[in-house]
Amino acid sequence: MAELPDITVWQGDITTLAVDAIVNAANRSLLGGGGVDGAIHRAAGPGLLEECRGIGGCPTGEARITAGHLLPARHVIHAVGPVWQGGDQGEDELLASAYRSSLRLALRHGLSTIAFPAISTGIYGFPPERAAGIAVNSIQNNGLGLAITLVAFDPRTALILEGALA
Ligand code: ADP
Repeated sequence: MAELPDITVWQGDITTLAVDAIVNAANRSLLGGGGVDGAIHRAAGPGLLEECRGIGGCPTGEARITAGHLLPARHVIHAVGPVWQGGDQGEDELLASAYRSSLRLALRHGLSTIAFPAISTGIYGFPPERAAGIAVNSIQNNGLGLAITLVAFDPRTALILEGALA
């Protein structure tokens, strides 16, 4: 029997979640930035940045895993989503790939709970409704056995994510 994907929407600060892995909407340098990236590095402490320095970056559409350091989450999966450039530069596929790469890493490391922020929809400017549809599609087909939380930082994003799930 096929397992149903376990996906929920939760509104709040992803850095407070005690899951196996929180996903960071990282940039290619993996050296920190604004938005959720800045919040994760602040909460995880300097050990996270030190570990990220050793990785040496990550291409757009891929992901890398580190420890959670001072976070309640055991791991951080740093996923690099695309910068929105109008939609004809492969943005949809790159965003889907960022989600799928994160899930692959989680499964490879034997994790069972993972929380995603709305990758690329902040500073990177991806239209939130379109991004939510891509997020739900990518994880529905790949998240078998994983309990997945889609984290919205604000009420509007929560509504958009719930709409995409429905
Ligand atoms: P990107 O550069 O990929 O667009 P951002 O961090 O700017 O990444 O935004 C991605 C999403 O993360 C946005 O919806 C933003 O509101 C949200 N976000 C920002 N801080 C947090 C946080 N502490 N917890 C969860 N989501 C957050």
